[in-house]
This record gives sequence, structure tokens and C-alpha cells, in this order.
Amino acid sequence: MKKVKQFFTALPLLLAAGFAQALPDNPIPGGIVTVPLGISSDNAPEVTLDGLSVMTVKSDSGEWLAVAGVPLTQGNTLDLSVNNSTVTVPIEPYAYKEQHITIENKRQVNPETRDMERINREYGQMTPVYKSYNDTVAANWATMIRPAEGPYSSPFGLKRFFNEQPRNPHSGVDIAAPAGAPIIAPADGTIVLTGDFFFNGNSVFIDHGQGLISMMCHMSRIDVKEGQTVKQGDLIGAVGSTGRATGPHLHWTVSLNNARVNPRLLLQDDLSDATSESNSQMSPGQ
Ligand SMILES: [Zn+2]
Repeated sequence: MKKVKQFFTALPLLLAAGFAQALPDNPIPGGIVTVPLGISSDNAPEVTLDGLSVMTVKSDSGEWLAVAGVPLTQGNTLDLSVNNSTVTVPIEPYAYKEQHITIENKRQVNPETRDMERINREYGQMTPVYKSYNDTVAANWATMIRPAEGPYSSPFGLKRFFNEQPRNPHSGVDIAAPAGAPIIAPADGTIVLTGDFFFNGNSVFIDHGQGLISMMCHMSRIDVKEGQTVKQGDLIGAVGSTGRATGPHLHWTVSLNNARVNPRLLLQDDLSDATSESNSQMSPGQ
């Protein structure tokens, strides 16, 4: 077993070939860790976490790095399987803030039995997307751009209470924008799923490769089709308030190896902000 040095600084330390920014290394639940593997083979090592393939990239020095999403439920360590041996990565606990929301539509807080059938069917569509893996990753995956213009109205990781009932933590970021405002692709990818979902409303899933998936929710309009490839900046659709939304905004989830991670860790223009975000209380409209 190899112990990996723990990096708990705000800024990532490693540069990989072809990336304009350092790779994220934020060893907290909901973060992304970049782990040097001490392997310089031609072929990528086989890295998995909980049975799912993990992204691997080569550094400038020719060493392979694993880039893994840390699940929000992760405990003190993350065990990566690397060519069938284990690499243990220390994970720091992190106390995300709480958010209390009042939802008028009671059905969206406590769905009725007839809604559960639909919700379960939709999970059956979304889960395989989050667990999917293809070998090719978008060249600009670590230099994403914001998919909509506007202030962050709700940060990643908040422990949420709907009508004072505890629910899953906020698995993405909310960007406040008027209905009809454009939503663009944060990085290159393929549209792998679109639909109108009970909670998420009109949604688009973009596969950026190697297990990295973006989901855009609550859209008023979808302008892409499943199977279509998109380039960074291409129009995906428009901001709306479909599904469980209190007003028009874009909810953007980023998932890596089926772990929901803070999307801001991959944004080329506000990487440092993402760390301050987790240290400060953000109020809606801020
Ligand atoms: Zn949201």
C-alpha cells in the first residue's frame, strides 16, 4: 500500500500535459483529488474506485495521475485500486453549510405514490449515465467555462432542508439568470441524455469523457439532441424554472466517477473562488 502525500492547499500543485491550468486537488467530500501514481508506462494504468473506472492523465514528466471525484459521503480515506493494488488517499472532513428552502408544491417535497414510479424510472435513466466511462476525455475538461452568466445563488454541498425536512445535499451549483438566458456547454462533449424530469425539469446531460458528466437542469428550452457532439461554448438551451425550482436559474451538476463534485473546481476563471466559497456563507442573490 502506498501512502500519498496529502495536499490540502487552495491551489493545485500539479500540471499535466496539455492543460492550461493546474489540476484540481481538493481532498474533501465533494472535491477532486489528483494522485500521482509513480507509473510511467505507455498504456494508462487501470484505476478504479468502488468498481468504477477513474480518470487518468499523464503529467509533463510522463507520470500517470489519477483524477478522482470524492463522493460527498466519503469518510476519512479514499481507496483507489491501481493495477490491482491499493492507493489510499487521505480525505479531510468538511462541514458544508445548511440551506433552508420553502417549497409551496407539497408534491415536490413528499412525492405521491404515483410520482415515485416516475422518479424511479428517471433514476434508471440517469444512473447509467453517471456510471458510464469512455476512454476519450475532452481536451478542455479542466478548463471549463461557466455555462450561464449570473451570480451563484446557491453553492455546492449545502445541506438542504425542504420545508424543514432534511434532503440530500446540494449536488451542484445554482447560477441565477433570467428565464430564456442562454446555457452553453462548459467543455466539449456528447449529449447523452435529455428529458423532462420530475425534480430536475428539462435537463441535458453532457458526457465530457472518462466518467466526467455535466447535467444542466430546470431549462425552459432544450436546443440539443441525444447523440449530438458539442464544443465548449455551444448553445445547449435556455434558463428556466421547470421541475423543482423556486425561480428561474441554472442548476449545474458535475459528476466524476459517479461522485458529484464542486463544478467550480474545474472552471478556468474562478478556481480560487471555489475554495473561498466553501469557507464563507453565500446568500441567494449574492
Ligand atoms: Zn441547484
